[in-house]
Amino acid sequence: MKFWFFAIYTFMVGATVGSFLNVCIYRLPRNISLWRQCRSFCPLCQKILKWRVLVPIFSWLFLKGRCAECCGAISFRYIFVEILSGGLFAFFWMTFDFPQSAAFCLLGALLITATFLDLETLTIPNPLTIGGVLAGLALSVISPAALGEQSANSAVLKATTGAIMGYLLLWGVLEAGKLCFGHAQYRWKVPQKFCFLQDGENTIFECAGERWKGEEMFVRKSDELIIETDFWQTPMGAWRGDGTIRLKGNCLCTLQGKLALRGGQQICGEAVAIRVPREALGWGDVKLLAAIGAFIGASGVLFTVFCASLLGAFVGLWLLLFREWNNRPIPFGPFLAAGAFTWILADKLFGTSMLSHLPFRL
Ligand SMILES: [Zn+2]
Repeated sequence: MKFWFFAIYTFMVGATVGSFLNVCIYRLPRNISLWRQCRSFCPLCQKILKWRVLVPIFSWLFLKGRCAECCGAISFRYIFVEILSGGLFAFFWMTFDFPQSAAFCLLGALLITATFLDLETLTIPNPLTIGGVLAGLALSVISPAALGEQSANSAVLKATTGAIMGYLLLWGVLEAGKLCFGHAQYRWKVPQKFCFLQDGENTIFECAGERWKGEEMFVRKSDELIIETDFWQTPMGAWRGDGTIRLKGNCLCTLQGKLALRGGQQICGEAVAIRVPREALGWGDVKLLAAIGAFIGASGVLFTVFCASLLGAFVGLWLLLFREWNNRPIPFGPFLAAGAFTWILADKLFGTSMLSHLPFRL
């Protein structure tokens, strides 16, 4: 009786936290403050929601996934995050002792938010990743037992080595990936229309039915988009004949001169070949692994990367073989989250008995 009471109770607490995570997943990428507008609103009709339709899980089921005000469809992600968060909280609470269970609930909430943000926007914002590193480090000082350690010294050591290891490991992968796959190259027999335009703060490049955002292409100072063209038109004039134009940020460099594009200005023409800079991994992934490391230590980081890469490779292969894949980059954050969760589970199940034989148990 006691067991089931606590299981249901922690599930409900987790589902309520999940409902807050949904708010974070919607608001963080849209730069909407979490605190200024406290009351939840419908993402479709923007109307403030009444308290009685904000009950986690049940409201979504009762309203059959529709908004009570405008009847617009509310994404399945809302109820899914609430159930996932509730399930994880109940699992951690029943499996681990306090305060370690609380630390894992915090990490779980962070990873759920990072996963769905990465799936939807391909970015993991700093408040989550850097906040996660700071939370792990703070926990190690305040409560060593939360990180599964006896003394403050060993807890601080675990959190710092974990965070540093996580950062350095994926940073290495990021740099190696840039060296090997730093550009995507396309060449056509028939010239393809292209357009590069400055739209407010952002730049957008469209060519042959594909679309790239400036923030994805120009991550580093050295990144440049190279277009081989036989006809192009800029605000300075139009040119015909073979030529190469280079774009860096919003700056156009040609033999005819340099030009910084202003809002609304564009460069169009026909491309014979393009070379688009790209990153193999995002900085968000690097910082997310540092945050994971601050909670589960260096050995956990190594296991997480191993597991995430394996999962990522399987999913990538499956997408290539069985799905029409439109070349969209695959987010790595969800795999890191799954890897970290597997480590927590494996560490609990096998502990020192099995994992101590692995070469990377530090
Ligand atoms: Zn609505």
